[in-house]
Amino acid sequence: MSAVPLSPSATPEEIYLSRLMAARLLLPTSVPGIYGRGARFVQVLEGLERSITQLGRTESTHVWQCPPILPHTAVEKYTRSCAFPHPRTSPEANLGDLTLAPSACCYVYPTLTGTLAAAGCTIDIESWCYRSAASLNPMQMRAFRMREFVYAGTEAQAQGFRESWVVQAQAFLSALGLESELQAQGETLDIMVPMLSGACPTALLSVHHHQDHFGKLFDIRTPDGAHAHTSCVAFGMERLALALLAQHGLQPSKWPQKLRTRLQLD
Ligand SMILES: [Zn+2]
Repeated sequence: MSAVPLSPSATPEEIYLSRLMAARLLLPTSVPGIYGRGARFVQVLEGLERSITQLGRTESTHVWQCPPILPHTAVEKYTRSCAFPHPRTSPEANLGDLTLAPSACCYVYPTLTGTLAAAGCTIDIESWCYRSAASLNPMQMRAFRMREFVYAGTEAQAQGFRESWVVQAQAFLSALGLESELQAQGETLDIMVPMLSGACPTALLSVHHHQDHFGKLFDIRTPDGAHAHTSCVAFGMERLALALLAQHGLQPSKWPQKLRTRLQLD
């Protein structure tokens, strides 16, 4: 797909995609939703990574990496459980005995089987993730990065994690010059930002409390023998970069100095 030819009826999202490609922030392929990232886009992503590390990583955080493909049997276990916290995989995500990851945290829970420390456990993890739907909306990429902080502990600890992240996430967006609003869907809270005039708000972050569902599914226990509760906060990395570019302009070198300093872009 080369630069998108715009029709008079082009949506705000399609117009934005066309501008991103013209500025070489996103690099086209022959398939909508699959893009390379140009130098300035990478610079913004790296700044966001640094800022999120400062925000959420402590001395006790475990920093993990995982591949973007998972054993099919593990993902199937989530699917069968009917409570997977992020969008499900589609059949086309299956590659024999492997499946393209639908989220970063789905790698974590099966590895926590056993008994946690009294303080619980926080994991900082990022993965490339996959969605099936092809779209000319740049906020709906088919391959993108999701950064997550995942917590497992007692019910009160997991609830505390979620509540503190709802506040921290909104303050984080506000410091980036992005006004946000909360949208609740059961135990999931999406933090939405209106990115483009005339378009629907986009979820840039989401905070989940899965109760003891994964504790039971993967036999994760707290020291008193109860099933652990889990929570996670997920940052959509490309969406965050796209929101900054929409809000502050397509040239990060011209962004407010306070923002550039926060992202360590200088
Ligand atoms: Zn998650």
